[in-house]
Parts: sequence; C-alpha cells; structure tokens
Amino acid sequence: MQTFKEWMNQKLPDFHEVESIYGKAHVAVQIVEMYDPDLLKNIATIANLSSGAYGLYNSGEVEKQLPPELEKKMIFSGKVDKNNISKIPNVVLKKYFQEFDESKIKESDTIRVNVKRILSQVKSQMEAIIQIASTIVHEATHAREMQTKGYTNESGPEAAEQDFQKWISGNIKQITRRFPEMNLPQQNPNPSNSMGLNPSPQQPQAPLV
Ligand SMILES: [Zn+2]
Repeated sequence: MQTFKEWMNQKLPDFHEVESIYGKAHVAVQIVEMYDPDLLKNIATIANLSSGAYGLYNSGEVEKQLPPELEKKMIFSGKVDKNNISKIPNVVLKKYFQEFDESKIKESDTIRVNVKRILSQVKSQMEAIIQIASTIVHEATHAREMQTKGYTNESGPEAAEQDFQKWISGNIKQITRRFPEMNLPQQNPNPSNSMGLNPSPQQPQAPLV
C-alpha cells in the first residue's frame, strides 16, 4: 500500500520551490487539486517566479515524452523534429497525425507563481493561500488551453479564476474544515505584521499574466 506521502508525490506537481518560500503553499496546491484534479494532470512543476507578474506560463517550458515508435514516425514525416515536438500544441499534432493520442504521451508542463509578490499584498494566511491557488488555476488554464486550442489568451484563465473563487466562497466551510491551516491564528505578536511580511493596504486585484 502506498503511504500518503507517496500518493501525494505521485499525484501532485513538484511544488517544493514555492513551498520553500511559503510553508503553506502546499495547501493552495491541494485546494486546486480538490477543485479540479484534471487541471493539474499535465503540470509537473509549480516553480517560483522571482519577479514581474503574479504568475507565468511559458509554452517553451513544456516537455512531452512520446511512445518511441510514434515519435520516430512523426519525425520521419518531416512535419516535426525532435526539438520542436514539445513546443507544438497537441491539437496541431493531432491534425498532422491521426494516430496521435494525448493519453499515450507524458506531458510535463511548468507553471510559475510569484509567491513573494502575492505575500506582500495579502493580510492573512487564508488570503495568501487563496491567491496562490487562484494563480495556479490561472496559469494551469493557460497550459490547458495551449494544448487543446493551440493558443491561449487572458479570457479563459481570468474566467477560470473567477469560477474558482466563486467555488471557494460557496464551499469555504468545508474547505477550512479540511484545511484548518487556513484559519491558523497569527503567530507573530505584532498583528500588523503577523506573517513576517510587510503589511500593505488592500490593493485592487491586478490582472495576472
Ligand atoms: Zn494570464
């Protein structure tokens, strides 16, 4: 039987980089997994973004492993080469090759979250976890759209974030019961800087990239 840790490692993306910056980042990942397990299916890594936007998806960071026979055949056709297969959206590969089957490939996408920027703008653990989770939903939606539509823009990811936040508000009791860390009392005696972060006034929601 698998241990819980093994199950988690197998099921969830590698998020150790963001967890090392914010020790409750795993809660954000678990909430997204609870919301839509399919969304993280092809996300191998949730990495930190050290500057700029709140989050980032770069189709240049996608890696795909194909069954060797199929890969050989595809390269032989001359329509793709070994270096660009991973960069071509699945929907396009399917057009080129009828026998292309997403379920037979292993796709490993990377999305990035600017954890420090998010932490600098929130006032509670709950807000931090929800904002990190929303950013993961946003970036993972870019990743999904790229493969299924062949392109991505802001409208789908922004709508996905809104749906996610609606789901959070509608289920907040169950979510906090399952993840009591969200309501953890502030540990720092100074309430204005309870997370060890610079307090900042509530800011309007800026668009995520
Ligand atoms: Zn975006």
